[in-house]
Amino acid sequence: MDDGPEDGKAETGDAADPATVLIVEDDASLNAALSATLKAAGFRPVAARTAAEGLRWFAHYAPDLVLLDLGLPDRDGLSVITDIRARGQTPIVVLSARNAEAMKVEALDLGADDYVLKPFGVEELLARLRAGLRHGVQARGSAPVVTTGDLVVDLGLRRVTKAGEALKLSPKEYDLLVELALNLGRTVSHRALLAAVWGSEGADIQYLRVYVGQLRAKLGEALLVSDPGVGYRLEDLK
Ligand code: CA
Repeated sequence: MDDGPEDGKAETGDAADPATVLIVEDDASLNAALSATLKAAGFRPVAARTAAEGLRWFAHYAPDLVLLDLGLPDRDGLSVITDIRARGQTPIVVLSARNAEAMKVEALDLGADDYVLKPFGVEELLARLRAGLRHGVQARGSAPVVTTGDLVVDLGLRRVTKAGEALKLSPKEYDLLVELALNLGRTVSHRALLAAVWGSEGADIQYLRVYVGQLRAKLGEALLVSDPGVGYRLEDLK
């Protein structure tokens, strides 16, 4: 964790209905730090220190997302992915050691949705969690529809309309819009947007500016607002 706690807070703000995140991590101090960070960011964390405990809490709490360390004391973390996948499509974000490339690939092949390399920053982690939750919502087929002004973003159908007309967006423009729509009325930091749209490999902020420019031309200046030096916001006009 190389970010202060206020970084995570400022950008996610209040969540009306907190998502439950199951943390399976045997490192006690990291587990506690993750719980505190997620709680501060508006999630409801549930902590487990072993694979067995993780699967028990998984059955009990039916979490919206699982944050899974692969190096667990009682079982191989990869087998936990298989077990969770046998029970459904709950998004899994794997915590992976930086030098464990092969394991990371295997985790994704087994059905993990994403991975975060240790050590990680708070903002990147939160961005990956939000992206994972978004995919989970889509997988469940009960996706929300975000409406602001005459713009309608249907996350389930992946359809965007403005004043009733369908908008043609590129995949990256759409991903960017979804991240902003899920944080309607709140500024999302440049870094969080880059991580959410381009993933852990990141991208230059110039890319972000280009895509925001394209998206703004389609949505209209009033909807996509720049918060200079901080990030971008989809204005809540309803
Ligand atoms: Ca571990």
